[in-house]
Amino acid sequence: MRGLLIPLLLLSLGLHGAARAGDYLTIQQGALPLVFSVPHGGDVPLAGEPERVKGIKVKDDRVNELATAIQRQLREKSGKQAYLVGANISRKYVDFNRKAEEAYESPAAAPVYAAYYAALRGAVDTVRQQPGALLVDIHGQSFDKGAIFRGTGSGLTAQNTPFYGQPNGLITRLEAGGLNVLPKAADEKETHFSGGTIVRVFGYQNPQGIDSVQLEFGANWRADAERIEQTATVVADALLAHLRAAGYR
Ligand SMILES: [Zn+2]
Repeated sequence: MRGLLIPLLLLSLGLHGAARAGDYLTIQQGALPLVFSVPHGGDVPLAGEPERVKGIKVKDDRVNELATAIQRQLREKSGKQAYLVGANISRKYVDFNRKAEEAYESPAAAPVYAAYYAALRGAVDTVRQQPGALLVDIHGQSFDKGAIFRGTGSGLTAQNTPFYGQPNGLITRLEAGGLNVLPKAADEKETHFSGGTIVRVFGYQNPQGIDSVQLEFGANWRADAERIEQTATVVADALLAHLRAAGYR
């Protein structure tokens, strides 16, 4: 993985851009068959470029901190972490959860966008054959602050039935840990935040895809450092239970 990813990054960014990749993206190597994408938590401006004129530009507050806490909990519980691709660059300049033609306006954002997808593709290819392989696209929403919305295109990008299995399905365990995930049943249609470009590009409906779920954490679940730690503990436990239930050892 490490050998593959770095040349891909250099290739897609070019020599000049490569020096800045660390500013715009966070890329972490993993060992578990889990891939985290965190596209909307960044603050860093695109150097010398104007903000986008079109599209949603609002930050998902504290989702980078939430993802960091989930990684730490995974390491404490299993000794391993997930692959992670996250935005440091602000959504004001690029929205990684949109198709390229809608994601950015400045051409200078193109190599950063390409690097985000190359890193996710490398991670997905690495974990694809492993039991329970799962991509989680991590977001924050304030539409319903007490809810966490599942986004799979209503079962298009992930097989939802195992998530609700007893007692170790991913969503079963999130609920058992006190989190409020909507919808409440595997076959129930998603009415809000049903999944963006990332889960649709990497989802299991594609020949090279894996189960991919967007999770939109309401503001209450990431209100402060203490709550983030509580949420992350439950999420890490649920992800490890999901992997064990799928036969990962
Ligand atoms: Zn988001």
